[in-house]
Parts: sequence; structure tokens; C-alpha cells
Amino acid sequence: AGPDEADEAVRGTCEDASVCKRFAVSVGYWKDPYIQYFVRQAKERKAPEINRGKLEWGWRHLAGLKADKTSVHGQGYLIKAFLKKTECNCQIVNLGAGMDTLFWRLKDENLLPRKYFEVDFPMIVARKIHNIKSKPPLSKPIMESHSGDSLLIDSHSLDSSRYSIVGADLRFSSDLEEKLKKHNLDVHLPTLLVAECVLVYMTPQQSANLLKWAASTFPVAMFINYEQVNMMDRFGHIMIENLQRRQCNLAGVEVCRSLDSQRERLLLNGWETARAIDMMKVYSFLPQADVRRIEALEFLDEKELFEQLMQHYCICWASKDSSNLGNVLQHV
Ligand code: SAM
Repeated sequence: AGPDEADEAVRGTCEDASVCKRFAVSVGYWKDPYIQYFVRQAKERKAPEINRGKLEWGWRHLAGLKADKTSVHGQGYLIKAFLKKTECNCQIVNLGAGMDTLFWRLKDENLLPRKYFEVDFPMIVARKIHNIKSKPPLSKPIMESHSGDSLLIDSHSLDSSRYSIVGADLRFSSDLEEKLKKHNLDVHLPTLLVAECVLVYMTPQQSANLLKWAASTFPVAMFINYEQVNMMDRFGHIMIENLQRRQCNLAGVEVCRSLDSQRERLLLNGWETARAIDMMKVYSFLPQADVRRIEALEFLDEKELFEQLMQHYCICWASKDSSNLGNVLQHV
């Protein structure tokens, strides 16, 4: 495939991710009143979707987002801990955000950072903006949190006081930075960068550049990366078949070889502390009552397969200026 087709395949993963999320929400893994406005309902249940729902539930739980309808464990890990630690005097930059609904959910919880930025390919951003413009449940919260002059909106970017979305290619950090700064990115605010299943689509060099850019741009920052790990068997074959379904070039697969290589990538590119754990570990320390509720939601006849899959996804997080943010990291 040429570069354009390769990028088109990567953009296609946005649709996959949001279909999975909408499906998981419809089954009851977690609540998300907004995902329905971004994606059609999946017609049938597929094993990968069931498994991905369970995985994603675990990631949300660790992120400290409202993962669970019934959970009484209000403890916030990672994202929520960062917001609380900085008392929301911070920014969030969601890299490769796709149709993610975190902005709307944080607003509902009264946990909006000073400004929430999203970045994705211009084509994806155009689709997201179209949805926002045409669906009042999406546009209203943006208007409500907006103050001052009229909000800026065109087909490839939207800028309001608290929410901004820009179309940019994450492989070109100077263009990225310029666009974010036009939308009033303040590099001196504590900044949380989130990448959910995004870096794996870049070459090791490209993701290293992005991480290096982030580390050198923000003096106080945290980076959270949720993606595949342990991807290759000892012959160098990629082990998760459904990831190849779109014939995406999983360019970053080298880095996703192990938890150590994930951690190393962060430490080698300017981050001061870094941790990486697989989802198996995440599941082992989440409140077991919550885990049992999740396990009861859908019957899984291939428990072993799910356990394997859990070892193929990880959460990594890194910080800069750990004297300011150390406590956030020690939560886990
Ligand atoms: N983070 C979202 C989520 O979890 O729902 C979307 C995940 S989807 C698997 C990967 C996203 O990364 C897609 O929306 C894709 O367009 C975006 N992406 C990948 N490479 C990118 C790049 N070089 N520049 C901008 N966006 C990119």
C-alpha cells in the first residue's frame, strides 16, 4: 500500500474503536451517553468486541474514569488523580482522539481541565466536527463552557474556551505545536497527554519524536499510553489476528514488544519516570467485586483467550517534574 492508503487504513481504526465502545456501552460495561452520537450501533456481537469491551473497561477503571455504573470506589487513578492533584488547573491533550467522548464526560463530572485539546487527522476531525455541529447534546456542553468572543469553527478545527480540536498529523510535531498554540495551548500549565491505541501505528522513530516533543515542550507533564504489548511470538509474528484485519501497517510493533521496551521508549525520550503494566496486572488489583460484575455481563466461552489478550494490552505512564506529580504516580 502507498502512503495514502496506509494512512486511510489507520484512519479506519477510529471507526473500529468507536463501534467497539458503543457496543460495550450497550452491554453495560460503562456509561457513556455521548458515544451514540458519533457512531452507529454494531449489528452483531463479535468475540473481539466482547473481549475489547472487557479490556477497555479495565483501562477506564485504571484511568479513574467512571468505568462502572455501580462502582462505589470513587478513587481516581491516573487521569482523575492528575485532575485532582492539579485542581483542574491543567490541560489535557488527547492525541489521536478519534471519536473519544472524554471531554463531555469530564464536563458532566465537573472535572474539566482549563482546556481540553484533541488531535487527529483532518479527515477524522472534520467528521467529528460535523457530528458536534449537528447534535445539540454534543454542541451544548461546548457552548455552555464557552465564554468571551464567538467561537471559532471551520471544517477542520474548532476552538472554544474549554474545548479545542485540531486536524494535524502527529508525525509532524512542529505543525502540531503551531496549530495547538493558535488555540491557546499554554505550555506552562501542567499537561496530561493521552494516547489510546495510537502510537502503535507510527514507526518507532515517529513515536519517539512525538514523545520527545512532548517531554521537551511541557515542563510539568504526564503521558498516558494505552496500547498493545507483547505483540510478537519468538518468530517475530504478530499474534493478534484481528489487529491485522484492516491490514494496517502496525509500524510501531517493535516498541510494543515488551513492557520493558515501552518503558524504555519513554525514558529515552525525555521522561523522568515511567511505568508499564499489562492488563492482566490491572485486573488483578482492581476491586474484585467490580471485576466479577464485568465478568458476568457476557458469557465468555474462551476465558483462556481473554487472559491471553489481557497480556497483549498495557498501560504505560510517565511524568516530568515528578516532585510536582509524584503522588499521582504512586496511586497505583
Ligand atoms: N483514541 C481513540 C479511541 O481510543 O477511541 C481512537 C483510537 S484509533 C485505534 C487510532 C486513532 O489515531 C485514529 O483516530 C487515527 O486517525 C489516529 N491517528 C493515528 N495516526 C495518526 C497520525 N499520524 N496523526 C493523527 N492521528 C493519527
